[in-house]
Amino acid sequence: TSTGSMIVVSNRLPFVLKRNEEGKLERTASAGGLVTAVAPVVINTNGLWVGWPGIHLEDPNEPIPESRPDDITPTAGLKSEKVVTVQVDPVKFDDYYNGCCNATFWPLFHSMPDRAIFRGDKYKAYTEVNKEFADRTFEALKRLVKSGEAENEPPLIWIHDYHLMLAANWIRQTAEEEEVPCKLGFFLHIPFPPWDIFRLFPWADEILQGMLGCDMVGFHITDYCLNFVDCCQRSLGCRVDRKNLLVEHGGRTVRVRPLPIGIPFDRFVELAHTAPKLLSTNQKIILGVDRLDYTKGLVNRLKSFETLLEKHPEHKEKVSLLQIAVPSRTDVKEYQELKEEIDQLVGRINGRFTTPNWSPIRYIFGCVSQDELAAFYREAYVGLVTPLRDGMNLVAKEFVACQINTPPGVLIVSPFAGAGETMHEALICNPYEIDSAAEVIHRALTMPEDERILRMNYLRRREKLNDVNYWTKSFLSAMGSLSAQEDHDE
Ligand code: UDP
Repeated sequence: TSTGSMIVVSNRLPFVLKRNEEGKLERTASAGGLVTAVAPVVINTNGLWVGWPGIHLEDPNEPIPESRPDDITPTAGLKSEKVVTVQVDPVKFDDYYNGCCNATFWPLFHSMPDRAIFRGDKYKAYTEVNKEFADRTFEALKRLVKSGEAENEPPLIWIHDYHLMLAANWIRQTAEEEEVPCKLGFFLHIPFPPWDIFRLFPWADEILQGMLGCDMVGFHITDYCLNFVDCCQRSLGCRVDRKNLLVEHGGRTVRVRPLPIGIPFDRFVELAHTAPKLLSTNQKIILGVDRLDYTKGLVNRLKSFETLLEKHPEHKEKVSLLQIAVPSRTDVKEYQELKEEIDQLVGRINGRFTTPNWSPIRYIFGCVSQDELAAFYREAYVGLVTPLRDGMNLVAKEFVACQINTPPGVLIVSPFAGAGETMHEALICNPYEIDSAAEVIHRALTMPEDERILRMNYLRRREKLNDVNYWTKSFLSAMGSLSAQEDHDE
């Protein structure tokens, strides 16, 4: 292989550290699709993972424990010596994470600038924490290269997401000064907004310069790539090539690439085959699964469902909406208020339509297990994915993976999610148009069997082919780190 050792840099490590009752540190692995796909590359290339361990360690040199013997997740093979923990003062970390990442970049990049807070002190914490990540990454890079344990090619540093948009430039500068070879890539997991939104951020230029420290910058879809290229041209005056998605900056040419993320498709199919039956009902289930976040369009979705029952009363007692809302950022007032609003709306709609034998909405505020989730996905008749804005939306993909029954159900997606751009056979539903969204749900509920089969076959085929392993390979190939033969294997 021509892949250099991979150094992943992400806000969180692929596991969290917790203290057990005896005060000893223990690892709890995360089982997300991304970690599952990326961890093996880090392990197989003798690479490293740099990130925050989820706990503040008074002694930054306290040794990180190995994985527990019963840990069968892909990160189990990630030895503690391959893990670099970033430690930041808790107050500063809070300013960086909650004050800037979640209160500024999250709403702004989802094109909801009214919700964004612009504060110099929070952004200062953001820059300082990014600098800390950059320093720790560079030290780790230098150690890796000196140790002789790295692969022959220059190490490949893969920085993730909106938490770390400034890190690349600092790493590049130091690496150039000290003549340590490396390649730098970045992937943004959320949308990249158009210039007239992005420019509202007072330090917009610094963000672009930070990202342009990379050799390649990846986004989910071409629209986000074009927004980024546009911002580089208009804010920094870079020369750009829109057709080939190239940006010239500091005497280098930066590649910009659409790399739509996928899911561990086969794992979800397997779960769908093994998960016990959960729903005993004769009703058609319309399923929504979302973190409780204002970007997910939950209020609009509930109103559309209400309109459906109003305009098409034939669905009463025949259909119910199962909405799972996963608690998220629950200590933030804005999220508490959103929960209040949703609680009230669910109560009002259920109060209005419930009969002795039926309630229109089943609402779960909480997490569900992977097994339960797979069973819901499998048994649902309609997957309703209607965010106001969403980088990709993995729920849409997990739903189609688990639709193993014949005839299958129907997927509805919003055009404002990355998934809406790529899952062409889904029904498209604009969440802002409450009435026509209700009509789309009606159409899904009454769609002929052969059409459902045809659409779902295409959707499943694409997601099986373009799964999360394919995404990791595409990243490597966009970095120029796969040989032609390996590229071809895809
Ligand atoms: N999910 C979860 N616990 C639950 C319900 C869902 O971990 O109780 C997962 C789900 O399987 C999916 C992820 O949360 O992989 C949500 O990803 P998505 O891209 O849809 O939205 P995000 O939350 O990242 O904005």
